[in-house]
Amino acid sequence: MGTTPVYNFGAGPAMLPRAVMEQARAEFLDWHGTGMSVVEMSHRSRHFIAIAEQSEADLRALLAIPDNYRVLFLQGGATAQFAMVPLNLLAEGDAADYVHTGYWSGKAIKEARRLASVHIAASSETDNFMTLPEAGDWQVSDAAKYVYYTSNETIGGVEFRSVPETGGVPLVCDMTSNFLTRRVDVSRYAVIFAGAQKNFGPSGIAAVIVREDLIGRARPGIPSLYDYAVHAEANSMPNTPPTFSWYLCGLMFRWIAEQGGVDAMQARSLERSAALYAAIDASGFYHNPVDARFRSRLNIPFTLPDPSLEAPFLAEAGEAGLVTLEGHRSVGGMRASLYNGMPMDGVEALIAFMQDFEKRHG
Ligand code: PMP
Repeated sequence: MGTTPVYNFGAGPAMLPRAVMEQARAEFLDWHGTGMSVVEMSHRSRHFIAIAEQSEADLRALLAIPDNYRVLFLQGGATAQFAMVPLNLLAEGDAADYVHTGYWSGKAIKEARRLASVHIAASSETDNFMTLPEAGDWQVSDAAKYVYYTSNETIGGVEFRSVPETGGVPLVCDMTSNFLTRRVDVSRYAVIFAGAQKNFGPSGIAAVIVREDLIGRARPGIPSLYDYAVHAEANSMPNTPPTFSWYLCGLMFRWIAEQGGVDAMQARSLERSAALYAAIDASGFYHNPVDARFRSRLNIPFTLPDPSLEAPFLAEAGEAGLVTLEGHRSVGGMRASLYNGMPMDGVEALIAFMQDFEKRHG
């Protein structure tokens, strides 16, 4: 690494805190005096079992997860859950409701439709996903076995501020892009899942929090690795889990706790995002198109007045150590993702760069 710090604003895999990366490096060759790296350890060894148990205990403490919920660490990222949720919660012929708020809920809907009957309870598609359908307007169907929504749309940059009320219908949430960035009342949910690659670890692994009574109802005939019961029974180790990724998640849980827990993460995410939105709104040069009531704290898309400025913006930002600012290929423009690993210094550097770029090109 050179002298200029590099701040990665990518939507994921995302930056992790420097302290966590340094701890992983310090422990890499010799984990706690064992003479072994975590990558070399048997997942059945007492060392790795200690890592796994501690990580679960720490995540439970961070979110005050009630005892009647299981915590699973599963492979296949968040995307595997798009299939696991219907396969485990719906019997043949059952139906579920989905809320369509952008790209990632769209992906989940597409996957669920391969497996079950899906009803769209609410959609912001006609508003180009620039706003969110408020929970009071959701049309939950009588037949719905669960209602599924995405608490933060990573590409559109819209975020639900509160937990929707569904009148007793079990609630399932993809929290991938805002997991561990605020307090969550887990008891309001049937299933919460989150890929680690944004707020708490590397890609490929997901935390899945499932209410116990929903485990053991998987559709017959499904692959065993898609059955929550198989994972619950084996403490997420029916086969060899992604041990090193799991360990890194554990380091992140510890780091979050040391920083003051999810309340501290929330305060920081509010501070980071408020500063960047204020800079965008004050500029008249940059523009964020999202309904202000639902602007995401984590993913902030913005445009420049002329698309021809995008290439020089990205090139000059890169030279200043501000990388991965290009918007998702499906929407273009710019996007700054501000997850748990992004320090305020990075946001301040981005704002200073944006103001300077505007002066020179505005
Ligand atoms: N859901 C959301 C909200 C996401 O942002 C992403 C990844 N960007 C996914 C699901 C899919 O995650 P993965 O690629 O880890 O499967």
